[in-house]
Amino acid sequence: MTWIDGHCHLADRRMDRDRQEILTTARLRGVTGFVMGGVDPDDWSRQRTVAECGIYMTFGLHPWTVINTEPAKLQKALEQLHTKLKDAVGLGELGLDYLRGPTSTSRAIQRTYFTRQLEIARDADKPVVLHIVKAHDDALKLLRDMGGRFHGIVHGFSGSADLAGAYLKLGLHVSIGCALLKSGYKVLKRELKHIPETAITLESDAPDMHPSGRTNINRPDIIVDVAKAVTDLTGRPTAKVLDQSSKALRILFGLDDPIRSD
Ligand SMILES: [Zn+2]
Repeated sequence: MTWIDGHCHLADRRMDRDRQEILTTARLRGVTGFVMGGVDPDDWSRQRTVAECGIYMTFGLHPWTVINTEPAKLQKALEQLHTKLKDAVGLGELGLDYLRGPTSTSRAIQRTYFTRQLEIARDADKPVVLHIVKAHDDALKLLRDMGGRFHGIVHGFSGSADLAGAYLKLGLHVSIGCALLKSGYKVLKRELKHIPETAITLESDAPDMHPSGRTNINRPDIIVDVAKAVTDLTGRPTAKVLDQSSKALRILFGLDDPIRSD
């Protein structure tokens, strides 16, 4: 089987210089599928220029975009999302980031656009890619208030097994990445073995989340190293961790992944 990076930003300008080499290296390591995260309308356009065999688009309004965009522009972007979403495999990134937007005004607007995007995803029957930072209680409440039963991933997950279980109950997977390769993240590292293996997907979040810090460009094939870290913490075989994640991602996002060999 070949493997899938469940969340990366291949259309990010930081990838422009070495994109082809980065993709070649990833494919040589067995990573042949890439689900891109979408952040704003400019990014959606760039994704169209990058998408090719095995590279999948998701469109969404990232909470940082929601915080930093004037209301009229944001409303227009939301309308565009309605029509453009048909070309994407999922809606994301959407969510709540109370670390970047801690004020009550910022939280309120984030909740509004989170809810509106969830409604769009539900109407279009698309999976979601959630970005939730320091806002899990509110995110879970909003998801439950909308009747639960979404599908998709909680990207960059670093919480406890109980928190993972709460998302699982709503139909979501937890997407785990380079937190396992960095220092800290003790809760996740301690509790990983208690999160059901079928609930976990793997991601790089490249070019972000390089284990050695922000100035370095992260790459999608790092999911192989993330899987090895899962093995160290849980005893689950690395190939099985990668296979299981890729299988879940194919089902969740309806990927046709033409390079698969199984
Ligand atoms: Zn991302």
